[in-house]
Amino acid sequence: MKLYGAPLMAVLLAGMVLAVREFCPFWLTMAFMEETLFFLAGLIAGIRLPDLDLTIPGLSHRSAITHSCLPALVVSASGFSAIAAGLALGIAFHLSSDLQPKAWTGGALIKLPLLGSIGMLSPIWLIANVIGCLAIFMEVVADEPADARLMILALCLTGAGWYFLREEKRPLLPLMALGFAILLVHAVRGGTLSVKLVWQYFA
Ligand SMILES: [Zn+2]
Repeated sequence: MKLYGAPLMAVLLAGMVLAVREFCPFWLTMAFMEETLFFLAGLIAGIRLPDLDLTIPGLSHRSAITHSCLPALVVSASGFSAIAAGLALGIAFHLSSDLQPKAWTGGALIKLPLLGSIGMLSPIWLIANVIGCLAIFMEVVADEPADARLMILALCLTGAGWYFLREEKRPLLPLMALGFAILLVHAVRGGTLSVKLVWQYFA
């Protein structure tokens, strides 16, 4: 249940937003809430989504398909950019947490479909995909309207706080991986970090 619970809750939340948009006449005045709620739904789903490989027939645990930025890319390509940004951040949390197994053997290794385990390349795979996820996240957030960006930023902080306090027993490495990846994405994107955009909003 723990595995299905979060993605189900996320689908419910996204469905609710769609229903309210359809039937509530006041929704237009708070349209920016829509993006924020979609983002939240993505974030909730993303934190657990990679381990759904346990339930998908034909995938071994730590499948390269779910333990990657691919799900966020697919959602982003289908036009649901706010959900994609949330998914990307949630998956980044999950993958950086998977970076600290007791040993890099068996269940800790990433498995490619057909080809099987990629062995000691697994940590590199995880780091590369954390960076990919954060790049997707920042790409989307930079395009959001300013008030949605602010809400998303607040959600990120509470989400990260909750995740690292309640879910993560050994938060140091995931936090370091995230920090490092954000710096990298920051460098790659020529310094347009979302915090800076929020700052411009106030200035
Ligand atoms: Zn996992």
